[in-house]
Amino acid sequence: MKQFKAESKKLLDMMINSIYTNKDIFLRELISNASDAIDKRRFLSLTKSELSDEFKIVVVADKAARTLTVSDNGIGMTKDELENNLGTIATSGTLKFKQEQQQQSDDSLIGQFGVGFYSAFMVASKVEVETRSAGEDGGWKWTSSGAEGYDIKACEKAEIGTVIKLTLKENDEDCNYSDYLSEYKIRSLVKTYSDYIRYPIVMDVTKSRKADGGDGYTEYTETETLNTMTPIWKMAKKSVKKEDYDKFYRTTFHDFRAPSRVINVNIEGNINYTALLFIPEKQPANYYSKDYEKGIALYSSGVLIQEKCAKLLPDWLGFVRGVVDSPDLTLNLSREVLQQDRQLRFIADSLRKKILADFKKWLKSDREGYEKFFKELGEGIKYGVYENFGEKKDELKDLVVFGSSTEKNAVTLAEYVSRMKEGQEGIYYACGESAEKIDAQPQLEKLKSDGYEILYCTQRVDEFCLMTLGEYDKKKFVNALKAGEHSDSEEEKNEDVKSLLDDFKKLLGNKVHDVRMSSRLVSHAVCLTAEGEVSIEMERVFRASGEGVRAEKVLELNPEHELIKKLIKRHKSGEGFETLAFTLYDEAALMALGEVDDPAAFVTRVNSLMK
Ligand code: ADP
Ligand code: MG
Repeated sequence: MKQFKAESKKLLDMMINSIYTNKDIFLRELISNASDAIDKRRFLSLTKSELSDEFKIVVVADKAARTLTVSDNGIGMTKDELENNLGTIATSGTLKFKQEQQQQSDDSLIGQFGVGFYSAFMVASKVEVETRSAGEDGGWKWTSSGAEGYDIKACEKAEIGTVIKLTLKENDEDCNYSDYLSEYKIRSLVKTYSDYIRYPIVMDVTKSRKADGGDGYTEYTETETLNTMTPIWKMAKKSVKKEDYDKFYRTTFHDFRAPSRVINVNIEGNINYTALLFIPEKQPANYYSKDYEKGIALYSSGVLIQEKCAKLLPDWLGFVRGVVDSPDLTLNLSREVLQQDRQLRFIADSLRKKILADFKKWLKSDREGYEKFFKELGEGIKYGVYENFGEKKDELKDLVVFGSSTEKNAVTLAEYVSRMKEGQEGIYYACGESAEKIDAQPQLEKLKSDGYEILYCTQRVDEFCLMTLGEYDKKKFVNALKAGEHSDSEEEKNEDVKSLLDDFKKLLGNKVHDVRMSSRLVSHAVCLTAEGEVSIEMERVFRASGEGVRAEKVLELNPEHELIKKLIKRHKSGEGFETLAFTLYDEAALMALGEVDDPAAFVTRVNSLMK
């Protein structure tokens, strides 16, 4: 007897000990494996016609022998494949299951992703697999009664394909395993979990009819197809209910939440295709990690070509899931890849436009839903604006939304522009960690009290997105936190003020680029801003990514403020000037950057001022 690999053994133990309440899913797993195997054979049969067959999955329940059998005429397995595929669990689905099992509770887990072949051991005390691979003469039989290990022997097998026979466990207080032999139970499991499997799942069912002449009934058996079969994306939109789409989405993409939007696309033209796309309600858990694989399942006339075709989506729409089916794709079978890059690019282009057109409709017809979506996944759209030097910015500029000083949730650029004040120099925006923090910035006081709206950029990508857009409806974007224009105001012409500004600048050395009087402060004495290309917020982003790009900082003073008047006096008398000046600078830095250069010195100065 051979031993299971260590990893596999652990998983197997979990299955055998049935720590999962939902044992039902074993049938879904076996049927999905059968369907995958048929997909593979059908794909090969496109060039090797001798491999074509009437594809189907057969379920047989034998009450007397207490066995349940699932057979397919798919690709089958060679001896090596049997050994590797069933002796080792190396599949992503199963491994992931194992990892997340540690963190999550049972119920939220089941149904999220495939748990694989070993789930058979939740209900079976013995599993026998007879299989014959396409191109081999004989078959192989794999047998296992669980954790001890498994055996592989040669066997007779007339047809290509795989037969999996489960001997069900004895009933116990926990579970009535005999249920899995009942016609009704099997039928309902197939309906629930495997309805859209594209091959017929057939079973001999018992029916009865009125006996000729008499009052009694006679029973007879009939082979029945249990599943609907038609791929849901091929069905007329009218005939599909929301629940059906939800169910398809959940089972196909292993998400336990319903999608927040379903998009149907049907294109007839140079290249015909049908697509059924879903927007998930939540950002996928590993969305921003390297492990995340974007992509759309690609079918050619119902034959699965590629499970995740990445080329069909730009990175910034990587959260979109779904299927694309086109009869017009030509395949290069020898390399098992799609050669027709041009066709793919055409579909990708058309898909992107359809998705964005749908988003536009969404924004108009269901504002609340769109805002929820945008909060969860909108960052992607903003990256889309920024990507490739703004190549797609025109397609996206009406889809991005921001918070603002007057509208906490979401403002489109069109809405902003429609309520701009007369003579307003441009679209004001301000960047910061949160709306609250931006709200507290002193240099925005005047703009706000004068009734201007300011867009709040709280995501890192926001400022890059606006810079890439450059303008909207011919209105420039104006950073409201940037230093005001140098003004030759009355105050600055004043000799005393001039020498104060000079000395202040000298005192701060290379901390600032300039010190100025400003007319845009109201209740605050000072603020720290930046001039030139790099804003303070950008400097922070660059610093976080290890780059030393610096903002040219400007310290602005409010000439109307008590403290600035006091500063001018102290400068003149020379008494206590430096302490007050430094403290004011620190105050501005604290507001703008959230930190001071030298906290200890700051505390000493504040203490001396409080005396
Ligand atoms: P997954 O389906 O996620 O790959 P499973 O544990 O369900 O993981 O199956 C493991 C592997 O065993 C499959 O990838 C496949 O190669 C093989 N396999 C299982 N069932 C069949 C079958 N009916 N026909 C051919 N191969 C099969
Ligand atoms: Mg599987």
